[in-house]
This record gives sequence, structure tokens and C-alpha cells, in this order.
Amino acid sequence: MQSFKKTLTGEEPKPAAKPAEVKTEKKAEPRKEEKPVANKITVGHVHMSGCTGCLVSLADNYLGLVKILDDYADLVYGLTLADVRHIPEMDVALVEGSVCIQDHESVEDIKTTRKKAKVVVAVGGCASYGNITRFARGGQVNQPQHESFLPIGNLIDVDVVIPGCAPTPQLIRNVCVMAYLLLRGTEEQKALAGKYLKPLMALAKRGTTACFCDLMNDVINQGLCMGCGSCAAACPVRAITHEFGKPQGQRDLCIKCGACYGQCPRSFYNFEVMDEFEGILELIDGAMK
Ligand code: SF4
Ligand code: SF4
Repeated sequence: MQSFKKTLTGEEPKPAAKPAEVKTEKKAEPRKEEKPVANKITVGHVHMSGCTGCLVSLADNYLGLVKILDDYADLVYGLTLADVRHIPEMDVALVEGSVCIQDHESVEDIKTTRKKAKVVVAVGGCASYGNITRFARGGQVNQPQHESFLPIGNLIDVDVVIPGCAPTPQLIRNVCVMAYLLLRGTEEQKALAGKYLKPLMALAKRGTTACFCDLMNDVINQGLCMGCGSCAAACPVRAITHEFGKPQGQRDLCIKCGACYGQCPRSFYNFEVMDEFEGILELIDGAMK
């Protein structure tokens, strides 16, 4: 029978090479890890009710995120990121979104997260103080029965708050690196990481109960207010107005939700870090190289 090649070209095909004559590329040695990875911390992303903007912000670290996952953290849970169905034990849980109290599964998930994680981090405005989900009144297309949402701090103890809607990629990255150093670093690194995280831990303690008076005492009366208006924009009951570039509160309207305090970029201003700013920057730069 005529060969397929001869049919096409009119040329006789060359005899096939014997297996011994076939040259193969020498396989490259598997790349050895330059750093031990056994000391990585385990991290999970727990997604409650929110817009996923915080996860996008985490991803916006691009190669920085790859670096964190290569050297510092194993991702052990994440609805869209890891093929794991049940919340496992982990060192750090990054929780995004608030909790719908009509959804019993979500309520159970946040309680399980608290039991399974050594450190619970509320990432972004919704997890920290409810943010836009406070305005939900039900009727959403897919889940019309979902009417009421609470920040996670109303249901469980929270260790660290990363404020913002969404928080900056750098802030999320820094907290991940600092959590690693706090859990696995040298004594000196632990001390610096503790200083970096201290105001975010303090914010976790008071985030959902702070009122306008706290903003007045800690920010405005300290001369730290820069008149950005974030507090007024965050207030769900319009208790804050701006006069002469500074916020004014109507205390009889305030429901003590903590939104203004959590959203204010100066409420977690870190005086201790100011003294050690260069050391902390070097620590983060060194970790990301
Ligand atoms: S009600 Fe408004 S002023 Fe009061 S704590 Fe909440 S955001 Fe601040
Ligand atoms: S959010 Fe903070 S810095 Fe901005 S106007 Fe309000 S108090 Fe001032």
C-alpha cells in the first residue's frame, strides 16, 4: 500500500528512526527550594457576604501574592481558590464579608472559623463593621430572604481588623507577612510585627462598638483629622456632616455602629510604628525580595 506521505508529495518516506537513535533532551534536575517551606503558616480565605472586592485586592499584589504563597503561607481553604469543602484547622483565617443571620450555614461557618483558626482577621469594611451590607433589606435576586447582616465581630472574637473598602493590596500583604513573622519569626521580628499589628488589633477590640465620640477623642481632637469625609460617607444614619472641612456629629442620631471609626484612615494611626518605621519597612522589603 502506498504511504500517506508518498500519496501527498510523491516522495518515498525515510525509514523511521530506531528507538536507540532518537535523541532526547536531558531532563532538568528538579528545582530545589531555596528556602525551607516547612515553616509556612497555613492561611484560609473565608468568604461571607460581600462583593469579593477584598479578594480582588489581595490578588492585586500579583507577584507579591505568589511570593507569599511560595515562601510564607499555604492556602488551605478558599471557596474559589482551594478544593476543600470543610473549614480546616489553620493558623490565620482571612474573613471577608459580613454574616447573613437568616443563613444558618453562614452563622455556623463563622463559628467554625473561630474554633479552627488561631488568628481571625476581619478583612475589609463588611467583615469589620457591616459596611454596605448594613443597608440590605432583602429582595436580592438570588437570595430574597436574606435581610439582615452583621459584622463578624458581633458573632465571634476577632483578633485583627484590616479596614477599608476594599483595603489596599499592600495593607493585606503586610498583615499576611507580619502574621507569618509573629508566628514564625525571631524574637526581634516578633516584636516588630507585634508593633505593626497592635493598632489593627486594637481596632478589632472596639471596631463594632465605637461611636462618634471615640472618633472625636482619638482622631479629631488629636489633630489627626485630614477632612477626607470617609467617616460621613460610612455613617448609615447620616449622623455626620462636614463643616469647615471637619466632621461634626449629631450624637442623638448615632447608633454606635463603629463604621466611622473603622473607615477613618487615621483611627489606626500608629505612633509606635513611626519610631520604628524604617525597621518595619526593611522587614517587609526583605520578606518580599
Ligand atoms: S452611627 Fe454614624 S456616627 Fe455613630 S458610630 Fe455609626 S458611623 Fe459613627
Ligand atoms: S474619616 Fe477620619 S480623617 Fe477623614 S474626615 Fe473623618 S475623622 Fe477626619
